[in-house]
Amino acid sequence: MGQLYIDGRWVAAVDGGLREIRCPADGTLVGTVAEGSRADTEAAIRAARTAFDDGPWRATVARDRGAVLLRVADLLERDKNEYARAESLDTGKRLVEAGYDVDDVAACFRYFGGVAGSDAGRVVDTGRADAISRVVHEPIGVCGLITPWNYPLLQTAWKVAPALAAGNTFVLKPSELTPSTAILLMRTLAEAGVPAGVANLVLGPGPEAGAVLAEHPEVDLVSFTGSGPVGRRLMAAAAATVKRVALELGGKNPNIVFADADFDTALDFALTAVFLHSGQVCSAGARLLVEDSLHDRFVDELVRRAERIRLGGPFDPDAETGPLISARHLATIEAYVAAGVAEGAVLRCGGGRPADPGLAGGHYYLPTVLDECHTGMRVVREESFGPVLTVERFTGEEEAVRLANDTTYGLAGAVWTSDAGRGQRVAGRLRHGTVWINDYHPYVPQAEWGGYKQSGNGRELGPAGLDEYRETKHIWQNIEPRPRYWFDPQVTIGRGGP
Ligand code: NAD
Repeated sequence: MGQLYIDGRWVAAVDGGLREIRCPADGTLVGTVAEGSRADTEAAIRAARTAFDDGPWRATVARDRGAVLLRVADLLERDKNEYARAESLDTGKRLVEAGYDVDDVAACFRYFGGVAGSDAGRVVDTGRADAISRVVHEPIGVCGLITPWNYPLLQTAWKVAPALAAGNTFVLKPSELTPSTAILLMRTLAEAGVPAGVANLVLGPGPEAGAVLAEHPEVDLVSFTGSGPVGRRLMAAAAATVKRVALELGGKNPNIVFADADFDTALDFALTAVFLHSGQVCSAGARLLVEDSLHDRFVDELVRRAERIRLGGPFDPDAETGPLISARHLATIEAYVAAGVAEGAVLRCGGGRPADPGLAGGHYYLPTVLDECHTGMRVVREESFGPVLTVERFTGEEEAVRLANDTTYGLAGAVWTSDAGRGQRVAGRLRHGTVWINDYHPYVPQAEWGGYKQSGNGRELGPAGLDEYRETKHIWQNIEPRPRYWFDPQVTIGRGGP
């Protein structure tokens, strides 16, 4: 058993650890993978360090690194079915959705492959005739990359592609629940021409296999996507070595619907905003803010549609969304809904597991709508990360903005209105990293993604997503060097004249 990938070789965990991966849709065994620990990650860090310091990757011309990434994109497209199937089995998500994810992953590699060689730095006007000054970008070094289970391959690609484009080496630690596509990716990177030691993969639980990436002095950057509590712990650990930290954390994202919005479209998107992938989406529109005059009609219809959503496994052609990732996560969702009801929310639909005996083997939870909510409730303040929509009322623009910003999170949000000016005004005032106007969920690799406030720091994707993985160096050259005699103005020797 050797799915750790260290220094270009497939190896087993040093202590022989193994883990069974089971499909959340029905509990079937997907496979058994190596379960690494601190010692494995330390070995991977050593390999990545040597490859960075002594290997060819950082010195490879940026455009040639970009060409390797473009090959990765081609290979992902060639192997799309294999990737999508593996992702579906690990996460329980529908095969068609996993296929879209692979398309997005290929697009991400294509974007960073394209921009890899496009920035030669800049020449600075020094204001002096005797000096030339340049600002250049360099890779930051060894990157520790830690990723979650909800979009395993996609979140990995958002880190791996820019890290490689910039000339870094890395150690990747994916979620222990969903390692399969990370294993496939290592194979693809090697086939595309990424040299040994540049891309390293360790598997295992976070505290054992992941934490060392933040602590280790030979790691220059740690980029983490996951929950807030773990992000805070990693940031504190990284402080000891002053390494760069990029955090993509959770969200509690407001979806604001004004009474003048196009009813059918806003309703349709309100459903996908929160129930796509059973709400296990960091940018899920889990807080619906509806203008008071529209509330009753909108929520009645929303509930009617939510009750009709069909649950099922990855290969069920009739399924519209799938299971939660684990029994533990299901219990968390149950607790959030119970807390909401206890605090006065009105349960309009869902609120339990489906009755269908065919779904009993999976971690399913019904699409749930909690009405008459307010920001004092835990289920509104905290990210449940499941198929749970809370509904709040507002009157007018001011109150909509105030409520939407009344959260410690700041990842994403949306505003629905037929008033173009209002759309822009509200978007401008939301303290969230992505704002959609009359849309929900789209993103492109060309545009930055990331959180305000406690949803994280740094950005992924776009030019800033590449900058995350680069150092900036100023190179100054004196083209007419001669002594200045700052300290001894009387000295005449060598002044070349009387
Ligand atoms: P998690 O924090 O439990 O785990 C994320 C990763 O961290 C996993 O690989 C895990 O093994 C590792 N980990 C756990 N404890 C660790 C420790 N002590 N030291 C080092 N690594 C550790 O999160 P999750 O449950 O896998 O993912 C869900 C969370 O991710 C949600 O909060 C969601 O909002 C967030 N998320 C954010 C984005 C974004 O773009 N902002 C995208 C996807 C998911």
